[in-house]
This record gives sequence, C-alpha cells and structure tokens, in this order.
Amino acid sequence: MSIASTMILSILLSGGLLLLLFAVIGFYVWRDASRRKMNPVLWTLVAVIAPAFVGFIIYLLVRSHFPDLACPSCGTAVEKTYVVCPGCGVRLKRACTKCGFPAEENWVVCPKCAEPLLDSENVPEITPPVRKKDQALWKVLLLIFLIPALLFTLLCILNLSVPSGGLQASSLRSYDEEKMEQYQEIPEIWDWLQSSREKDPEGVYVLGYQGGIENEESPGRKETVYLIYRPSTGYMKAVNEGARSSFWRGTDTVITFEDTFDPGWSHAYYPLTCYVYEGDEYRGLELVVNGRSVDYELQEIDFDPSLEAYYVRTGIFGER
Ligand SMILES: [Zn+2]
Ligand SMILES: [Zn+2]
Repeated sequence: MSIASTMILSILLSGGLLLLLFAVIGFYVWRDASRRKMNPVLWTLVAVIAPAFVGFIIYLLVRSHFPDLACPSCGTAVEKTYVVCPGCGVRLKRACTKCGFPAEENWVVCPKCAEPLLDSENVPEITPPVRKKDQALWKVLLLIFLIPALLFTLLCILNLSVPSGGLQASSLRSYDEEKMEQYQEIPEIWDWLQSSREKDPEGVYVLGYQGGIENEESPGRKETVYLIYRPSTGYMKAVNEGARSSFWRGTDTVITFEDTFDPGWSHAYYPLTCYVYEGDEYRGLELVVNGRSVDYELQEIDFDPSLEAYYVRTGIFGER
C-alpha cells in the first residue's frame, strides 16, 4: 500500500467515526430536548455545530431548567406545576383547597386567593414526580471518550513506524556510471539495465532479491536487496533511508531521493542505488523522489544483485 492510499484510508476512517459521533450526539439532543419541551431543532444544531463539544456541554447545563419529570406511579411525563397526574390521577403536589392553585411544601397561605393552606398532616397523600434516569447520557459520554481513543489507536496502527525487534543492519550505496559498467560481467543484470532504459527512460526499475542468510549464530536471518535503476535521474543531492511499519503489512523501507539538474560541485550522477537489509523480516520498498511517492517496476531475481556480493562471489575484493 502506498503512502497516499494509507492517508486516504486514515482520513475516511477518522471522518466516518467523527460523523458517527456527531450523529449520536445530535440524535440524543433531539430526543432529550423534545421530551423537555425545549426547542429540538435549535439545540440539535447548537450541539452538533459548535466546535469541541461546547454546544453539547452548554445544552447539558441549560437543560436542568427544563426538568424531565414523570409520574412515580404510571410513568406519564408531567410538569412541575401539575397537581395530579393526567395519566392515572395520583396526587403529585399540594394545592389550595379553595382555588386549586398548586402550592409548595412550606407555603402557609395560597398566593392566589389568600386562603390559609392546610397543615401537611391533614393533606391527602402526595407522591412527588420523579426525575427520569438518563442512562443514554452515559452512553453518549462514553462514546465521546471512546471514539477519539479508537481513532488515535487506528491512526497509530496505520502510520506509526514501529522499530522491529532483533538485530538489523542495512546499507545504501549509490553507483555511478563507471561502477554500473561492471554489471557487464553479470549478463542477467546488464540485460535488465539495457531493456529497462529502452522501455521508458523516465521510469523507475527495481530488481528485488529476498533470501535467507545461513549463519549459525543468528538463525532465521533474512536478507532483502533492491537494485534501483533510474535511467534519467538528475544529479544526486541526497539519498536517505527510513522505515514505515503497519499492522498488517510488516515494514517497508522508504528510500528518499533528492535530485537536482544543476551540476553543483557536490552533486554527481548516480543512476543506480543498491539497498541491502538484514534482519528477522523481509522488507518492502517505497520510493520517494523529490518529495513525491513514485511507482516502480519490480522484477525479482534469485541472487543478490549488489556489486559487493558479486565481488565476494568472484573473489575480487577491494576493487572499486
Ligand atoms: Zn400517573
Ligand atoms: Zn387558593
């Protein structure tokens, strides 16, 4: 998977999860505001649009003035001023015996008709309305914490470079044209170089090798070698090696080239680059040229294509 598609996937995932979170908050506020006889359209918009959940927090603070009351005996939604439940007739509140005006517990005289109110002992039994338990709120709050945590974890899995365990060694060498000529000794690679250049000089061609290293001290070591050919490269300013891991793909080596077409004193022409990696895993390859991820044509080979390996095979040491 390339850097671009990983990024698109991350953006889609984060966008989808955030959208889900706002949908849940919106639905909750809509339902809750309707029940409390607050303006549901207004409050849903405030809760969803105001950034960083500010609207939702304001809604939670304001809604306490609009209690969500219910009859303790039948569950019908009632209001603070109701004397009896309209659903089952149970007494919810004290009231003036003369005019029926709803009265608070500690009032002595009716504020409407000035009739003295009865002592609480002489009043018929009152069961005050209960506040509905809001279990949905806890679920919404849990989501507000869980979704960002989930998002963070996902982004980590997608993007973080996790160093792999065990000993690893790598080398990155660039070959100029003179060194490239030495491949005439290895017809398989020389033919590949010629045919690649004829195909499309603007292309990027990679010869890949994967093999085990027979070593008693460290069994299970794996070697990955990439010979990277860029026929129409400019002058090389810099070449760097990095790594990028993902949960399901293992680790890719990312080789970054910086080219220029200005032949400055420190710049040289290196059409070939050889990358060797040794570790407990094989490495994939990503190439970035002048800041852009590039596609390349990969061909596999069944021997190590580096010049250094050729010197070892043929016994030519130190020839540079
Ligand atoms: Zn009732
Ligand atoms: Zn009264």
